[in-house]
Amino acid sequence: MIELPEAQTVARQIDADLRGKGIAAAQRGNSPHKFAFYTGSPEEYEATLVGRTICGAEAMGNHIVVAVEPGYVLALGCGGERILYHPDAQTLPKKHQLLLRFADDTYLTVSVQGWGAAQLVPREDLGARTYVDPGRVSPLGGAFTLEHYDGLFQDLEPKDSRSIKFFCISKPGIWGLGNGYLQDILYQAHVHPRRKAADLTPDERRALFDATVDVLRRATDLGGRDTERDLHNRPGGYRPALDRRMVGEPCPGCGTPIAKIQFQGGSCYFCPDCQPL
Ligand SMILES: [Zn+2]
Repeated sequence: MIELPEAQTVARQIDADLRGKGIAAAQRGNSPHKFAFYTGSPEEYEATLVGRTICGAEAMGNHIVVAVEPGYVLALGCGGERILYHPDAQTLPKKHQLLLRFADDTYLTVSVQGWGAAQLVPREDLGARTYVDPGRVSPLGGAFTLEHYDGLFQDLEPKDSRSIKFFCISKPGIWGLGNGYLQDILYQAHVHPRRKAADLTPDERRALFDATVDVLRRATDLGGRDTERDLHNRPGGYRPALDRRMVGEPCPGCGTPIAKIQFQGGSCYFCPDCQPL
């Protein structure tokens, strides 16, 4: 799944490697996918994209917003897409949800695994899309301070039942953070995923803030997780501290076997000793 570090990585690569490429052909996928989210018909995609030019890309949360000039953007990301550049037709996947052929006979494909988006949006409508809302605060940016983070907790009523997991990835949510990196953040801060957000102490909130910034910065610097792929189909350099490979393995901090639970629509991994409930 694409989260903020993967979105940053792919956006940076599109910006560097695809900028200036003219679109000679566009296909809104050759394989129907129930959970691929589009904004128009295949004919509309083809008519709009052909003749336009890739003019850069940036990450917004877990989305990759590609400038398609004049006047449009492609919003990719948010899910399990594989977004790949192909120097020739040899490596094109059999099934895809979006294919662009550039004038120099190179390609970009988007293949959705699970769910994902390939939305073609007029640039002036981008601000109305909450998922790419430029007004949101990136945990990699200077506005993401401890004061800002603590402020999110001030909105909680004492009886609010939200778990820290739900708080971090759903409401209010840290922009671009999903269930993957959340495991390492909670582990590093010694907070159990089932803890109620409203019950955390100031020290625990501080530890979570520090871990959020540290994990997401390191992962971004390393090009995302080693289970994900970049634009050139290379795995990232960030090995998660906790993921499915660690279940039953000793916690690096205390030796207790790492546990797994299903909680709020996803797997959670934690050390029962370092992250007490
Ligand atoms: Zn431990």
